[in-house]
Amino acid sequence: MGSTYESALKKFGKAAELMNLDHGIRKILEHPKRQLIVEFPVTMDDDSIEVFTGYRVQHNVALGPAKGGVRYHPNVSLDEVKSLAFWMTFKCAVMGLPYGGAKGGIKIDPKQYSKKELERVSRRYFSEISIVVGPDKDIPAPDVNTTPDIMAWFMDTYSMNVGYSSMGVVTGKPVGLGGSQGRTEATGRGVSTVAALAAKAKGVDISKMTVAIEGFGNVGKYAALIMSKEKGAKVVALSDSKGAVYNSNGFDIEELMKYKDEHGTISDYPKAESKMSNEELKTLDVDILVPAALENSITPEIAKNVKAKIIVEGANGPLMTGADEILNEKGVLIVPDILANAGGVTVSYFEWVQDLQSFFWKKAQVNSALEEMMNNAFEETWKMKEKYSTDMRTAAYIVAINRVAFATKKRGIYP
Ligand code: GLU
Repeated sequence: MGSTYESALKKFGKAAELMNLDHGIRKILEHPKRQLIVEFPVTMDDDSIEVFTGYRVQHNVALGPAKGGVRYHPNVSLDEVKSLAFWMTFKCAVMGLPYGGAKGGIKIDPKQYSKKELERVSRRYFSEISIVVGPDKDIPAPDVNTTPDIMAWFMDTYSMNVGYSSMGVVTGKPVGLGGSQGRTEATGRGVSTVAALAAKAKGVDISKMTVAIEGFGNVGKYAALIMSKEKGAKVVALSDSKGAVYNSNGFDIEELMKYKDEHGTISDYPKAESKMSNEELKTLDVDILVPAALENSITPEIAKNVKAKIIVEGANGPLMTGADEILNEKGVLIVPDILANAGGVTVSYFEWVQDLQSFFWKKAQVNSALEEMMNNAFEETWKMKEKYSTDMRTAAYIVAINRVAFATKKRGIYP
């Protein structure tokens, strides 16, 4: 498949060339600032010892402390974490957040472990990376397979070590423990906001559109819920790692969420008209396709058969190298990951601000601030797209790179 980082650099490179980016700045941005690999032992419930591998990569801190989630997945690798950290730099910058980019991960299949084992894994991992994290240094958050409970363990572990409660060291914590209202559904909410804006740009109201969503994790399920319940779109296809389901009348997402909680998967949902593979879902004749699972999910072969007119990247890096070109040529409007799924880190930013001030916001305040920031970032990206007659991904990179480049130049190169 090749390196995901190389593929990320190619997409960035297209923007760098178009905007005529200074070569020195380009070189800086092509290299992550700091990469930490930790191998740590954990005692299992049966008293045996397992050793896990974890990572924390800080790509850039020109605009502020590093920010980005931690994922638990058997395929986590340095290449993947580096790519995710790279995307975080530009995601924060395109949103105008005072952050750099980072990401972390543990190579683990969390389903194979008990809650107590996961707690020990989480605490030991956080303790190992605590030499590089902190509320002014690098602020982790949830990502694939990590939850508010895990964030609470991270925060507690750090706090125990520094000797006081440090709420601002992680975001995505439970509400009532330094967490923010609206953080859990924030990424899905942001996806829905930009999906509606993309629909409008295509001249159609989103309430007249059909949607297929790959992935029913935190991003996919809340995108589905908000797109159907608040925006009036018809969500006709959904999937998880076990398979996809289709219903031409649209699904009741709240009911489907309950079904997933009870059965662990949506692939056997009895109210579906038919089942299909994930691949079939991606090539369905719908208006909007939301890949909200993992990176490299849409290969060039799949891209050739995509029928959707709009793709909203709920996941990070879901389009494999080569897929963009095919889809752009077909006239598909791609709302890129660094903009489309930035709702999560935006509400993480609100959470961090609330923690630092110990003053908490109401849900309506969080949601309207999020909506405004997503609208602004979409508009700025759209203007840049027109200015350079380019695609939205390249335009979003140009908006972001301009901000990081400005900060880098003003700060100067130390010493
Ligand atoms: N993991 C999320 C992302 O990829 C959120 C990061 C954060 O909230 O810091 O954007």
